Amino acid sequence: MSASRKAKRRRSSRLGIRVLAVFLVLGAVAALLSFAFRRLRPEQAEARAASAPVATPVPTPVPTPVPTPALPAVDVTSWELRLIDFDHPLGEEFVPESLTDVGDGQQMDYRVAPMFLKLAEDARAAGYGVYVCSGYRDYATQHLIYFDNHVDVYIAQGMSEEEANAKARLAVNFPGTSEHQSGLCVDVLEYAGQDMEPYIGGSGLMLWLEQHCAEYGFVIRYPNGKTDITGVEYEPWHLRYVGDEAARYMMEHGLCLEEFLDLYKDASPAATPVPTPVPTPVG
Ligand SMILES: [Zn+2]
Repeated sequence: MSASRKAKRRRSSRLGIRVLAVFLVLGAVAALLSFAFRRLRPEQAEARAASAPVATPVPTPVPTPVPTPALPAVDVTSWELRLIDFDHPLGEEFVPESLTDVGDGQQMDYRVAPMFLKLAEDARAAGYGVYVCSGYRDYATQHLIYFDNHVDVYIAQGMSEEEANAKARLAVNFPGTSEHQSGLCVDVLEYAGQDMEPYIGGSGLMLWLEQHCAEYGFVIRYPNGKTDITGVEYEPWHLRYVGDEAARYMMEHGLCLEEFLDLYKDASPAATPVPTPVPTPVG
């Protein structure tokens, strides 16, 4: 091999190395660019996301907590919450401890009379007449009303004793089962001799009583639509004292006394600091 051919071969070999080096460098640059591009993409995506108009994220709806109204901490075995009905009679012997005059020749238990007198005073101040047509009624009077004024009259009209009793029970409590014997209730009208029937729509004094009686510790004892529970037709004039807290709760939640007392049977001792109800003594 000649020297010139050797030199020529060395030149072409160096050229090949250079070309290879250039390719290597280009490849490396391409790899770097590709790597950098891949690294950038998420950031660019984020940047695009940040600059794009973004819909306000919809917050996960958190259910509004429904406040469970706490039962009033009352003693359901206390005298003012005593349930008196056909199944829970006061009995023939029951007489209130002491009675106080509340007007129109009527009386109430001395412990509730002041609250009723205040109610009557405020109702009159609001523009209504208040006539106390019936307060405390003793067993003998209830007996007379039930038998002489109803059962006997119906029998005289030709009804059987059973039929007469059934009809009487719709209008009058059986002797010994009337709340009126407790002295804790009162029937009020706007004036003497007023017919009670028109009140079955709720108007005048009856509406005022519905709205305000609880402020004095009274409830409408036989509310509209509760006859199935109370066993007595709607009587918007019949006010029963149950105490301030119980009255407010019952009127606010539309409960009759039976329903209110049932809440304490269901309540767990941990949830409410209320003593376990003791069955009402049947006298
Ligand atoms: Zn009554």
